[in-house]
Parts: sequence; C-alpha cells; structure tokens
Amino acid sequence: MKTIEGNLQIIKQRIADSCKQSGRHPNEVKLLLATKTVDTTSINYALELGETLIGENKVQELKEKGSMLKGNPEVHFIGHLQSNKIKDVLKYVHCIESIDRFSLAKKLQQRLEFENRHMDVYIQVNTSFEDSKFGVLPDKTLELIKAVSQLNRIHIKGLMTIGVLSAVSKEVRTCFKTLKDIQTKVNALQLPNVEMNELSMGMSGDLEIAIEEGATIIRVGTAIFGERMYPDSYYWNETL
Ligand SMILES: *Cc1c(COP(=O)(O)O)cnc(C)c1O
Repeated sequence: MKTIEGNLQIIKQRIADSCKQSGRHPNEVKLLLATKTVDTTSINYALELGETLIGENKVQELKEKGSMLKGNPEVHFIGHLQSNKIKDVLKYVHCIESIDRFSLAKKLQQRLEFENRHMDVYIQVNTSFEDSKFGVLPDKTLELIKAVSQLNRIHIKGLMTIGVLSAVSKEVRTCFKTLKDIQTKVNALQLPNVEMNELSMGMSGDLEIAIEEGATIIRVGTAIFGERMYPDSYYWNETL
C-alpha cells in the first residue's frame, strides 16, 4: 500500500513537471486510475488518499468491484463495450469513454430512454490505426459525432484515444495531435448537444507527451498499481 502512495506522488510530480513544461496549470489535468485487474482494497486505498476518478475495462470487474468502492468515486468505462452489456455498465458508471460506433450509441440511447436518464460519453478514436485498438478512424469521427449528437439522452463531452505503443515518441505524439485536431474542428462547428472539452489520452508510459498535446484526463494503471497479470491485448483485442 505504501507503494501505491509513493507511486501516486511520483505521478503527481510527473503531471506537475509536464504542465510546467507546456505552460499549463496542473488543475487542467485530471488523473483517472485505470483499475483493471486491481483489487478493491488497493483501489480503496488510493481513493482514501484523495483520488476521485477511476476507469474500468470490463463489465465483469465492474460488477465485482462497483458496489465495494468507497467515497463515491466518479467511474468511467474505458474498455470495449458490447451492446448487450450496456444495461450492466449503466448501473455503475458516470461516463462511457469508449463510444466508437453508431449502432452502440443507438442501443445506449434506447436503454437510457427506458431508464429515463442521461449519460455523458466520449468518442473513442483509433489514432494509431492499429487493428488491435478499438475506436472510430479519424476521418470517420466527425460523421459519427454528428450522428450521435442527434441522440438526446447522450451528451458528448470529449474524445478518448490510446496512443500507439511505440518507443518513438514522435509516433505517439502524432496520435495525440490527431485527437486534439479533431477536438478543434468539432468545437468550431458548435454542434448542439456536443461539448468537446475533455481529451482523455496518455497512460503510464506516455502521459508527458499527452499533457503537452492537451490532455485533460490521463489514464494511469501500471505506474500506480504495478504490472498486470494479463497483457493489454487481453483487454484491447476482441478476438481474445
Ligand atoms: C489499461 C489502460 C490504461 C492504463 O494503462 P497503463 O499503461 O497501465 O497506465 C489506460 N487506458 C486504457 C483504455 C486501458 O485499458
């Protein structure tokens, strides 16, 4: 547990340093704890230290941990979402960051109508063009946003992406620049029901680059909770 505390301090320092580097205020960047595979004791420890935002990838894990979390954290869904799991996800989350196709948004709208509620979402963009990553392709994003904006129960609040896993920082930066460009373009259109304020990008290995490129939410797992048992392909690849 002491490790989690120390790791959080290191992350906060990294956020502060890169904000300074890019002339931003640390308050502009929220830290989301990516808690896939992490047990509730560890998550609650981080929450007791003052963290307030967590993200889960799998419906099953939400079901197991969702009701055991302390202090009412804001919960985001950051994994690939299948239509038939929408109902379950809605029980636990405040925001779905992984809307990447209209069929999914339409099913979500139907369920929200049924439950008489609304939901914040981000549109997930595949900025790395890797098959293993979900998300709408950059040149199809505007079209998807326009379509989803017609669904009155769904409020689009931003964009999310997973940067390319590359040692070449230039390649990672290109992914984040792509997301920022889309945000700028969408904001210029002033679409009703679309508020493109949030850019969810950057993880343990590339958060500095993401912050420099305008991230408002970074999603950090390994650097806080340690290495996971499963490779990320288990979470990011539909065939597994
Ligand atoms: C696991 C995960 C993260 C966090 O990745 P780390 O490298 O462990 O920081 C961020 N975003 C998504 C969508 C994830 O699945």
